[in-house]
Amino acid sequence: MNILERYHGMEYGPAPEARNEADAWLAGRDFGKALFIGGHWQAATSGKTFETSDPSSGKLLAKVSDAGAVDIDAAVSAAAKALPKWSASSGYQRAKVLYAIGRAMQRHQRLLAVLESIDNGKPIRESRDIDVPLAIRHFIHHAGWAQALDRDFPGYKGVGVVGQIIPWNFPLLMLAWKIAPALAAGCTVVLKPAEFTPLTAILFAEICERAGVPIGVVNIVQGGPEAGAAIVNHPGIQKIAFTGSSEVGKIIRKATAGSGKKLSLELGGKSAFIVFEDADLDSAVEGLVDGIWFNQGQVCCAGSRLLVQEGIADAFIAKVKTRMSRLRVGSPLDKNTDIGPLVDLSQLDRVKGLVAEGAKQGAICWQPDAVLPSSGYYHLPTLATGVSPANILAQEEVFGPVLATMTFRNTEEAIELANNTRYGLAASVWSENVNLALHVAPQLKAGVVWVNGTNMFDAACGFGGYRESGFGREGGREGMFEYLAAKLPLGPAIKPAAASAQPVERSEGDAIDRTAKLFIGGKQVRPDGNYSIGIATAKGKLAGEVGLGNRKDIRDAVAAARACKGWPEATAYNRSQVLYYLAENLSGRTDEFAARLSELTGAGAKAAREEVEQSIERLFLYAGLADKFEGRVHQPPARAVTLALHEPVGVVGIVAPDNAPLLGLISLLAPALAMGNTVVAVPSEKYPLLATDLYQVIEYSDVPAGAINIVTGRSAELASVLAKHDDVDGLWVFADAETCAKAEADSVGNLKRVWTGNGRSLDWASADAAGDALLRRAVEVKNVWVPYGD
Ligand code: NAD
Repeated sequence: MNILERYHGMEYGPAPEARNEADAWLAGRDFGKALFIGGHWQAATSGKTFETSDPSSGKLLAKVSDAGAVDIDAAVSAAAKALPKWSASSGYQRAKVLYAIGRAMQRHQRLLAVLESIDNGKPIRESRDIDVPLAIRHFIHHAGWAQALDRDFPGYKGVGVVGQIIPWNFPLLMLAWKIAPALAAGCTVVLKPAEFTPLTAILFAEICERAGVPIGVVNIVQGGPEAGAAIVNHPGIQKIAFTGSSEVGKIIRKATAGSGKKLSLELGGKSAFIVFEDADLDSAVEGLVDGIWFNQGQVCCAGSRLLVQEGIADAFIAKVKTRMSRLRVGSPLDKNTDIGPLVDLSQLDRVKGLVAEGAKQGAICWQPDAVLPSSGYYHLPTLATGVSPANILAQEEVFGPVLATMTFRNTEEAIELANNTRYGLAASVWSENVNLALHVAPQLKAGVVWVNGTNMFDAACGFGGYRESGFGREGGREGMFEYLAAKLPLGPAIKPAAASAQPVERSEGDAIDRTAKLFIGGKQVRPDGNYSIGIATAKGKLAGEVGLGNRKDIRDAVAAARACKGWPEATAYNRSQVLYYLAENLSGRTDEFAARLSELTGAGAKAAREEVEQSIERLFLYAGLADKFEGRVHQPPARAVTLALHEPVGVVGIVAPDNAPLLGLISLLAPALAMGNTVVAVPSEKYPLLATDLYQVIEYSDVPAGAINIVTGRSAELASVLAKHDDVDGLWVFADAETCAKAEADSVGNLKRVWTGNGRSLDWASADAAGDALLRRAVEVKNVWVPYGD
């Protein structure tokens, strides 16, 4: 045997990480008093506990206090009590606290890593080298945001008491993603870890005690769905930040509807890992190992769908299988382990069930020849080939070490397959041609795209999803907005339409049909139901009639908005020119619109003229900002740049207010259009003639067909139809409280981004009702990671 043969024949010896410090910590503390509320360690009022165990052996680790609604109430009270002082403290004071937390975590780095691996089952290499250092980086990074708040977010302030609910797959890291920005923004928190993995959060609370975090600023409660629901429904909380399954995310969306709580949801995924034929295949294989087998595939952004170009598919799959055969399945505390156990027996059963179902539906599931440890919840890495796009393994989030493989012929097909999912969290694109990769990235419906890489994260870069992967971003500047509230010029409560409706006498005998039609796909069309409603002047006379739009009209309008490619694909400069042109054409008809406003609303001639002029000015504003509200380049501590691109949300529904019926509509329409969204607008129910008068202005202004669609009718009914429509991506509603609440509740189908005034009107003439605060709602931020260097 020569040296090379000997070298290849060598086996890894065991390399266990010592666990004595963790065992001593476990033995030394009372987990029956594990609720950290107002600076005290408390038992659950009910006396209940739940068990957490070691997934590599099934052995009990601790019996932990199980919080109920009474305990949550106490935690919220503690957070509310601490809020005034904390939010009023200087950025420097808060920065010092965040930095102290980061430094204290550094001193406990090893203990945190070992505890995380014992509780969750993740290989120590991952908790030691990724989870814990990144968690620390979050606190230190956000110390800076605390101090930069006035500089970078003028006019914004912290939202208040925040309820945070996290999953078990990255217990400490998710805690850091939640607590660090909240504290930086001046919020106080009640955080609930997942019931499978309570331990590192308990150690973190001890660290907060020692690091001098003021009492009540951080409260950590333990428990399951009951405790989670008590947080979600607590009236003393102003914002809910949730990371977890899309299923629970939808429950939370519904539960918070109408509550006025700010909400961010970081949910599941089914991310595509796309390998083009010109990729560096060996690098792509290594990326894939990280993409799907990191943390046993229990990763929200796991690259669980491999899309590989046909010509290289066989060669690539062969390489993947060879690499899979070398993955070491074993104890999480062994430094050589690649794959540890799943978090719990129930998770193992779920994964096995999905693999069996996938096989039944035609997938060929291959696993390497490896012997599993005799105890623990292990599952072999699994490669599914022959997967049809409808197979359960291609559609469902498995949350386990299972890779579904499909092939594609060309770029268009790759994009289509990648987007063929209800999720939209992440994607990896592998090609040595960076032009191709950067051509593909913007076309992927995903919040994060990694070029020739995967699972790159940093505290300075936003992370979060499109579609049913949730909304909101975590990390960096983008993430800070989730804990801040903009100053909005709120007006009085909006009354439900029925209460203000006046009966109008209709002119049945009139031979000429003066009913204004709907505006769909660039054409004036009759409403599907052929019904119209009479619109009154301020004096109660008939001013005209408009079509009574229904569900079918909204469906047609959404289809037209979706089909319009000319607008989202136009350059920002093009869009800017069209908006200027709209302004110009409206300006040519100022007198006419002012007269119409006076006639309908009873506004005096001067006020009416002012509203028209302000509408023109607002069009000008957004025309000008169309090519200025740009993304950013982040520079994470890695050999990579991260392009935070502003992309349109997609099809945006707008339900416009009655107050300032022209300015309100334009104030919502213009920012949505400026950022490349296509729009289905329901104008003021009371004064829709101002919108129907706009048809001609739109027709003369080079607006591509389908970019603006207008459906007149009953606001409450049409808002609900828009909310339920799964092809509407965003919805902005300014109507009465009930209509707003219903729109939020009805939006759960595809988790569209909903913005409402919660039943309040805005002072549309105010400068605070224009600009960046609105543009931010009109974009999704996509972070595209581009590594560099050889
Ligand atoms: P889960 O939704 O079951 O639970 C998450 C948390 O919500 C837990 O703390 C749980 O106790 C709590 N909870 C459960 N029911 C609740 C209810 N009705 N009301 C309030 N709280 C409730 O998710 P999980 O199984 O713990 O985690 C896995 C999921 O998390 C996966 O879908 C994964 O993709 C997702 N995830 C997403 C991200 C992201 O950033 N997008 C990150 C990590 C994990």
